[in-house]
Amino acid sequence: MGRILVHICCAPDAVYFLKRLREDFPDEEIIGFFYDPNIHPYEEYRLRYQETERTCRQLGIKLIEGEYDVERWLRSVKGLEDEPERGKRCSVCFDFRLERSAQVARELGCDAMTTTLLMSPKKSIPQLKESGEKVAKAYGVKFLTPDYRKGGGTQEMFRLSRDLELYQQDYCGCIYGLFKQKEGEIFWDLVSFRGRRPGSKEETLFVKEVRTFAESLSLPVREFEFPFLSWKVLEGGIWVNREPVPSIVVPFSQSVRGKVRADVERRVGNTLYLNKQFIRLVLVKDLKDRPLEEITGVTSPTFLVPEHVMEKLLTNRVEVTLRTEFMQERSRVLLIGRDDAKRLIGIPADTLQDGRGVSGDQVRGLVRENLERIKRGEVSLVLMGAQSLGRPGQRFFEEITGRKVDEVLSYPP
Ligand code: SF4
Repeated sequence: MGRILVHICCAPDAVYFLKRLREDFPDEEIIGFFYDPNIHPYEEYRLRYQETERTCRQLGIKLIEGEYDVERWLRSVKGLEDEPERGKRCSVCFDFRLERSAQVARELGCDAMTTTLLMSPKKSIPQLKESGEKVAKAYGVKFLTPDYRKGGGTQEMFRLSRDLELYQQDYCGCIYGLFKQKEGEIFWDLVSFRGRRPGSKEETLFVKEVRTFAESLSLPVREFEFPFLSWKVLEGGIWVNREPVPSIVVPFSQSVRGKVRADVERRVGNTLYLNKQFIRLVLVKDLKDRPLEEITGVTSPTFLVPEHVMEKLLTNRVEVTLRTEFMQERSRVLLIGRDDAKRLIGIPADTLQDGRGVSGDQVRGLVRENLERIKRGEVSLVLMGAQSLGRPGQRFFEEITGRKVDEVLSYPP
């Protein structure tokens, strides 16, 4: 029995390719090698790796993760940043990834190697063949170029990806391809947030990690994607006499125009109203972010501020900036257990703006604690994305399953 090393670029390209390769080479041991320092940003890389790990686990294929040597990758394509896809940059990128794969193939005593890139409808098979054969030869390994796209293979690949509810990326991988594919609209793809902002890559990765864990315990899982109205703070703050005042922006606050200098015009209860642009400052004992319980629609620019700064705010001119953005995004809900379980316990998958939320260890602990009850159908756990922005995930889940979530665990106090 020989061995074949398969360079894996992502789970959707791998799922059908690996299945077919195993059918065509039933006597060979197949080893997956995820080596993709071309994937930017790192959160996207982790997400694609996580899904590859889940796929290989399901197929019973051993997976090795290569190094994320992104700096060396960036140096290797220097000067080729403006090349189109399938151009010279992609040839260098294939050489880079396949050469390291060939090296590993030789170290592991493999007779042959190949790559799941061959499955990608956007990649050129002749270009991959040229690169693969060149590097494999240098390491004394044979390069296989099966064309599993033909004969309905591409459609079958999409079907399997859908069935497995795999994360489907919408760009090839590198920052240069991202610029071209999204015509410069890449800002949010490259921004990392503290915690797990609703609809972010961090939130998706969290859901996928919990899913992989639940599947490793042979629990039934189901994932639902849903659209929602997202809200983000681009910049904002409050100053008095040029000194910043601690504050948190209330979700769904709209932007203010420019830098506003205003005075407190009115105080009603614990709310101070400034005399410009409907700005509100809400005095609170304990300055913490809080989830939006219900969608209230766009609200006036509203900040939470600590009570002890009230005097300062009442007796001085206040400076305020705030730039927020509303956009359509997608998030997900993960059901662990049966949807007809007697009791449904909801867990927020996202974190608040200040980064507080349920940790992976806490969720894994809950799954373990309830393992037998989940198996008996007494309880199911529902991990809900974007919960902090008016509970869109919970509402979506309840609508499509016709079930009410009985109890929702709060964000840590
Ligand atoms: S577009 Fe894709 S294949 Fe081409 S260089 Fe970028 S990551 Fe590599």
